[in-house]
Parts: sequence; structure tokens; C-alpha cells
Amino acid sequence: MPRRLILASRHTAALAQFAASNVLVAFDYDGTLAPIAPTPPAARMRPSTRRLLAAVARLYPCVVLSGRALDDLTRRLRGVPVWHLVGDHGSEYPGALSDTAPHVREWVAHLNQQLPPVPGLMIEQKRHSVTIHYRRVRDKERVLAALADAVRNLHDARVIGGAQAVNLIHFSGPNKGIALQRARRVFACDTAIYAGDDETDEDAFQSGGPEELLSIKVGTQGTSAARYRLRSQAEIDALLRMLVDLRRVSGRAAIR
Ligand SMILES: [Mg+2]
Repeated sequence: MPRRLILASRHTAALAQFAASNVLVAFDYDGTLAPIAPTPPAARMRPSTRRLLAAVARLYPCVVLSGRALDDLTRRLRGVPVWHLVGDHGSEYPGALSDTAPHVREWVAHLNQQLPPVPGLMIEQKRHSVTIHYRRVRDKERVLAALADAVRNLHDARVIGGAQAVNLIHFSGPNKGIALQRARRVFACDTAIYAGDDETDEDAFQSGGPEELLSIKVGTQGTSAARYRLRSQAEIDALLRMLVDLRRVSGRAAIR
């Protein structure tokens, strides 16, 4: 499949065109702004990424969409002037209304009953979703098989794979695609740039056509609906720097 690397010189015109438009810039957090860490609490942005993200957020409407709980995400972005944060795969944002919380409690009770007690397996209950982390489990195949059995009976849950994790979100609930397009409308933007690294980001990659959405998958592995790629998370700083340079050159500043 074609791998259009957004940092390659032949594609900078596409990035420049979006940067010059009335664009919303949006990022996933884990694996995109912050390197994947051995445990979820340990994932932090590099100081250079933090500085560059702050510079981007002063020049563009800028949002972060994450699978993390909103409180957790808010703590991680403290001091960075992003315009809007959305947690829990698109469900949790200031003013959001959702009735999926009772379903989530049922899923967790079911998983606790069905899954064998395995060292390193972590079930994280959030308000609107559940993330089952298995990065630290030794026998991953056994756990994934048990998990597949357990979720088969959860008819109202949508199962989305993540980085050494499995996410359950409600079928009727929002996703990152809905969250991205809502944020674009809220900030009255015509276009969006979105970068993310895993399966939960595919909804966002598919939420707009190539004219209005520049989609960037972080990492070269696997198939993706994204039009462009970064080779790895380490390249996020270069992307942020290009966004800063492009808007400083164009002289267009975000109005807030
Ligand atoms: Mg991610």
C-alpha cells in the first residue's frame, strides 16, 4: 500500500495548503503526542513536544482527542494552551451528556467474572468505556482468547484494538470521528488535520474526505484509512515544528 510520508518534501505542499486554510489541528495523545510507555500512567510528552504543541495551539485552533479519562488527560496537558480536550474516545468533554455509564459498569462486572486472574492484566473503567491493558501480561495469547470469549456476550459493546490494549465503547456512543467533526464545527473551521496511531483513530481518519481532512497515521505498520503517515512517534516534533513554521510564514494567527 502507498506510504505517503507527510514529512517528505514532495508532500509538504499538501500540509502547507491545509495550514493556510481555516484549519483545526487535532491529535491523539498516547503513541502520538507521547511515546507509548510500559504502563499507561508513565506516558509523558517530551519537553520539546510540549513546547511545540503550545506553539501550535497559539497559532491554530488545537484539540487533543484521547481514549484516556478526561481528568487524566487534563492533568497531562496542564500548562499547554490547547483549546479543547476530549476524553474517553470522544465521549467525555465539558458539557457532554451520555447514558452509557450503566453499560460500562455491567461490562466491567462481566469481565471481572469471566477473565482469569492473570498478573499484569489491568481493567480500566472509565465513565463511557473500558480499556483492558495487557502489555505486562506474559501469556498474551491466552488472555486475548479469554477476552474474545468474554466480550462475545456483550452485545452493546464495540471492541476496538489499541496499543497492547482492547477498548470497549458503546455502539451508540460517540467516537473519535464524531468528536473531531464536532470540534471542527465548534471552532468554525472548514478543514482539519488529525494525527493518531491506533485503531481507535480510524474513525477520525474516515470522518472527512481528502479535501477537508488531512489524516496522518503515526507508524508504518498495519493498514489505515489515513492518507499520510509519520514513520514513528519520534517524528511528531518535526510535524509540530512544520505547522508552526508554516503559519508563522503565512502570518495567519488563530483568533481566540
Ligand atoms: Mg494513541
